[in-house]
Amino acid sequence: VENLDLGVSYFGNRISGHYAALDLPEIVNHGCNFVVHTLSEEDFWFYPETMRELIDLSHQAGLNVFLDPWGVGGVFAGETFSRFLLDEPKAWQINSAGAWVPKACLRSPIFREFMQKWTNLAIELNTDGILWDEPQLSLPVNEQLAELNLTCCCLECRDTYWQQYREVMPAEVTPNVLKFREDTVIDFLEEICGHANRFGLKNAICLKATEDITQGVNDWDRVADIHGLDILGVTPFWHLYGQDPKAFVGYWAKRVAAICAPRGIESQVWLQGFQIGAGREMEILHASEAAIQAGVTNLAVWGIYGCSHMSALSSERPAEVWKVVGDTFNQLRARK
Ligand SMILES: [Zn+2]
Repeated sequence: VENLDLGVSYFGNRISGHYAALDLPEIVNHGCNFVVHTLSEEDFWFYPETMRELIDLSHQAGLNVFLDPWGVGGVFAGETFSRFLLDEPKAWQINSAGAWVPKACLRSPIFREFMQKWTNLAIELNTDGILWDEPQLSLPVNEQLAELNLTCCCLECRDTYWQQYREVMPAEVTPNVLKFREDTVIDFLEEICGHANRFGLKNAICLKATEDITQGVNDWDRVADIHGLDILGVTPFWHLYGQDPKAFVGYWAKRVAAICAPRGIESQVWLQGFQIGAGREMEILHASEAAIQAGVTNLAVWGIYGCSHMSALSSERPAEVWKVVGDTFNQLRARK
């Protein structure tokens, strides 16, 4: 495979000496050429210069660096909390039943301003790119479509909806509502990707592997067409969703590869390296092969060490998981 990009996410440690001595060599000898550092709101406020050290060390080891707005505003994926939501209750989403939802509205000017500041820090820290990780609107879980308490129905959203459709925003899922929600996500992504792109950063967006139309974005071509997008990825976490690794990962890998190829952007597949059950570690190899066969050229695993250092995400035998990741990545490199 030509031009193979292989990477891993890194989080849970902010002691740069530990990173340099132990973790960074592991990342390199596991065949990675890039690392995704989470840059949570906690990092934004309390660790900016520490993050600069981690990023500089990564660069010195020859790795490309992506930063991930981990859990920022409750909008992106991440096992962390948001201070923005405490500071700015007016920026919360409101669902169709009128209840406050602790996630920032993607149309909120206050949230967009905060995302600018976050991106500016990422730029100052000299990252190569940003991974916009599973951006989405809030989802109700396990309910029938008709009863969905959809977001966002805040004043800002309802006002914009009225201007576009000249009708009061309905509480149920209509074609207009679905289109409006998609517009909300796309418009937000265009703004943040545009900002990063103007400063020469790469933009990667990864989407959840779901066909659920209420997620927000249904038309992935619209995401792929965002100006300044370099990488479109998907997170087909087969074990999490109770799916077959080859079939499930293969299906989603084909889908992103087919969208990316004609546009000349890179396709990325995230491999599940967390919560892997004992004896199922080799599925990471099978999933990787399915993705490569589908034409995907960028593989990343979440996260380092089989997530042994985060009990909520740890695999049953994280050392085994991490070994399979290294064997898989180094095998793929050798094939080249
Ligand atoms: Zn809103």
